[in-house]
Amino acid sequence: MGDRIVLKQGRLVAAAGERVVDVAIEGGTIVDIGAGLTGDRMLDATGCVISPGFVDLHTHLREPGREEAETIETGSRAAALGGFTAVVAMPNTEPAQDSVAVVEYVRTQGERAGLCDVVPAGCITIGRAGEQLAPFAELAGAGVRIFTDDGNGVQDPLLMRRAMEYAKDLGITLAQHCEVSALTKGAVMHEGSCCSRLGLPGWPSIAEELMVFRDIELCRLTGAPIHLLHLSTVRSVDLVRAAKADGLPVTAEACPHHFTLTDELLGTFDAVYKVNPPLRTPADIAALKVGLADGTIDAIATDHAPHPPETKEQPLDQAPPGMLGLQTALSLALGELGLDLPAVIRLLSTNPARIARLDDRHGGPVEVGRPANLVVFDPSATWTVVPAQLASKSRNTPYAGRTMTGVVRHTILRGAPVVVDGVAQR
Ligand SMILES: [Zn+2]
Repeated sequence: MGDRIVLKQGRLVAAAGERVVDVAIEGGTIVDIGAGLTGDRMLDATGCVISPGFVDLHTHLREPGREEAETIETGSRAAALGGFTAVVAMPNTEPAQDSVAVVEYVRTQGERAGLCDVVPAGCITIGRAGEQLAPFAELAGAGVRIFTDDGNGVQDPLLMRRAMEYAKDLGITLAQHCEVSALTKGAVMHEGSCCSRLGLPGWPSIAEELMVFRDIELCRLTGAPIHLLHLSTVRSVDLVRAAKADGLPVTAEACPHHFTLTDELLGTFDAVYKVNPPLRTPADIAALKVGLADGTIDAIATDHAPHPPETKEQPLDQAPPGMLGLQTALSLALGELGLDLPAVIRLLSTNPARIARLDDRHGGPVEVGRPANLVVFDPSATWTVVPAQLASKSRNTPYAGRTMTGVVRHTILRGAPVVVDGVAQR
């Protein structure tokens, strides 16, 4: 039996319109698009969109070091079920991804799991300690293209300037977790009226915005590209919009929880709602939605951050920040933004693939000759979030019990079906 797979009767959507087609895949490549195609294996795509696979710029896979929360295998399975064919693995592992050995370990474990491309990010500083630059050249030589100390922002402006100068020479991209930590010591939630009412220590918007501003200005000075992680405030979006108008190589992402949930939820004192940066206000949500619609924010990223129950059941001040995100991102993008399908695909696939410098393999377009990294999803089917049914090793989703629209049917990785009819194949 050969390995020709045909996706039957799916919708290819584009700004210009849509058509219903069969897509044939062989040897890891899209080999034919048309009508009445046959193959060794047929996968029904009736009513579904055939899209380039999603690319997550911001996934915490927790391995090595925190395998009780997630492993590269369980996180990859959650990614594939969420329609992702590539995830950028954040480097706040233990040890951190600041050496070729650790980066190679993460990539190899990803290949072994075989459910999505696991693309390790490198650290900006050794041990993410903010003191000494990581060996960028060696890591770039090992294929690393995106560098971040995520979880920490790089506080020292001189070190960040040097990192950007170095990055520009090497053709890599730095990604910043924007948080001036002197302003957020002990913070558990957004600083605002809700926070004062609850009497909890606040994480002010300006702690993010100061670093967004600083890094935009360092970008202007050095000409090095900068990607701004998980933007969460009105002013951050305004600053990025102005930077883009000036033609600076600034890109940005927003997370589904930041455009769907508000700080009021912390009134439950349930740490499932604790995240960094924190859930903010309806005005911030509105600004993120406008930014996603007008192209100011390039990508939707999950910040998938698994934590086991014993840590998330602690009091707010002790529980770690973070939420699951890989299996709910598509539904929230479809259901909460009011955007058309081509725009959602741009935010989940095309743009993040370009930012991660994966656009030779991921992000489409769905055309003959392109690598077959694809997702087939039903944009109108519904499902209910049941934490115990998620593939992640952890259960910390803020959307438990919520019914959502948009279901992944099939995910194709390098020509191989890794999810069929919503079931992971390995
Ligand atoms: Zn972060």
